[in-house]
Amino acid sequence: MTPQAPQSIVIVGGGTAGWMAAVAFGRLMGPAGVRVTLVESDAIATIGVGEATIPPIRTFHAMLGIDENAFLQATGGSYKLGIRFEGWSCPGESYIHPFGQIGTDVVGVPFAAQWLRAHQVGMADPLAQYSLEARAAEAGRFSRPIANGDSPLSRIGYAYHFDAGRYAAFLRTQAEQRGVVRREGTIERVETGPAGIAAVHLANGSRIDGDLFLDCSGFRALLISGALGTGWVDWSEWLPCDRAVAVATSADAAPLPMTRAIAGPAGWRWRIPLQHRTGNGHVFSSRHLSEDEATAQLLADVEGKTLGDPRIIRFATGHRERMWSGNCIALGLAAGFMEPLESTSIHLVQSGLQHLLRLLPTGKMSMPASALVDRYNRVMTAEFVRIRDFLVAHYHLNARPERFWRERAIAPIPDGLADKLALFRAGGRIFREADELFNETSWLSLLTGQNAPVEGYDPICDAVPLHVAVRRLAQIEQVVGASLNHMPPHADALSRIAARESRRADHLAPL
Ligand SMILES: Cc1cc2nc3c(=O)[nH]c(=O)nc-3n(C[C@H](O)[C@H](O)[C@H](O)COP(=O)(O)OP(=O)(O)OC[C@H]3O[C@@H](n4cnc5c(N)ncnc54)[C@H](O)[C@@H]3O)c2cc1C
Repeated sequence: MTPQAPQSIVIVGGGTAGWMAAVAFGRLMGPAGVRVTLVESDAIATIGVGEATIPPIRTFHAMLGIDENAFLQATGGSYKLGIRFEGWSCPGESYIHPFGQIGTDVVGVPFAAQWLRAHQVGMADPLAQYSLEARAAEAGRFSRPIANGDSPLSRIGYAYHFDAGRYAAFLRTQAEQRGVVRREGTIERVETGPAGIAAVHLANGSRIDGDLFLDCSGFRALLISGALGTGWVDWSEWLPCDRAVAVATSADAAPLPMTRAIAGPAGWRWRIPLQHRTGNGHVFSSRHLSEDEATAQLLADVEGKTLGDPRIIRFATGHRERMWSGNCIALGLAAGFMEPLESTSIHLVQSGLQHLLRLLPTGKMSMPASALVDRYNRVMTAEFVRIRDFLVAHYHLNARPERFWRERAIAPIPDGLADKLALFRAGGRIFREADELFNETSWLSLLTGQNAPVEGYDPICDAVPLHVAVRRLAQIEQVVGASLNHMPPHADALSRIAARESRRADHLAPL
């Protein structure tokens, strides 16, 4: 870093986004002498939800030197192998979107293409049978990857569920150990200047200035919107749910290592098992369901004893026109929000941080290199758009009878999604765009799970005679079944963490 790089970074907000940013900047820039200050208000609560994640979080933790056992102990966390979508294509049907990779190529031809062809003629089992993660999730089993040649056990894809409040507290400890200074106080005024943000003023009269400001103030978006007036791109036409009601219940004795997403009359409910409790929520459209009705539906569905009162959360779906403006970068809810259907919000914080660390200017922030800023805004917007399209597909491809769902099925869809569906329809072709979060396995699980129309199969399959492909598919299924037997119950893995038996070890070491 040159001497002209930002020397002082101010993070506004101490929710998940703020403390993730604090750990990252504290660890990676603290040693270079950069001052990192985080301001949060004890009087303004964090959002308090955000408990399900996706596998890239493990890369983030590894980058920050976070020990997996310590993290799971501190946050009451559990393991997650995927998401089960219940009743999305139509009531009574369900499918899993598993992490990891499904199957392997069949003589050089992609697994997805071969499976689709064989499935169309009734010679292949349901897709989940070929996924170790999907079968383990259903069976309530879990293991970290076990080095074992080319076995699916060696490449198990997993993520976590955790308690959002405890996660922020855990990250705070990590950040403070790395020299991040926490300032408590409510920001009453934001001072602007030629660079964008000059300083924030607290209710107690103190002024905190810096070279670079990260707006992690949640839906308030104090800096990026309140002070800089950055516009908002509204996506409610694509994703009209605008409310959630959340309530915790007592812990499940045998928690499944997966998130459940259960479709309802005008939205869906989540269920997230932790060590010490279960998180439950209901995401819904207020045009179709009142808050009271949504709460009643949630309470009728939960299992176990409720812990506390249900809490309503109102949100808007979309993102800031520019997530980086002047010397201010918005992360987390201040940058944008999409409903937690695929657990992508915390990932977007992580992704924003990773892009930001690569694009930090080496000159004064009063003269931001516009190419860096433009690139950041472009890649982050593209990431939001691709995730949005993936979410919209869940709603578009449905045969449910209720008004909300009939409207979703016929509503116009974004062009990018229309292209994906057209390619799939024409022979089951799936292409992952550059840097796209969701890979072919994810799209295959979604499109087949939601009965997307498909005509014929990819002609590349004809390179392998059908009977050869069917035999190979059977072998893959058999290997997955045998691998499953090596995985202990998820509850065992969790009780070992709770009992603090698990040693501090490399995060990929087998349990
Ligand atoms: C219903 C729902 C469910 C979700 N589920 C998931 C999920 O399963 N997985 C996932 O990845 N994400 C999920 N999310 C998103 C996730 O919760 C957020 O992305 C994440 O918690 C980041 O929040 P945040 O830190 O941006 O904001 P917040 O948690 O709202 O934190 C804002 C911070 O700013 C501070 N602040 C605000 N105003 C001031 C002020 N004037 N002065 C000083 N400080 C101030 C507050 O004190 C607080 O510390 C969900 C979100 C919602 C709404």
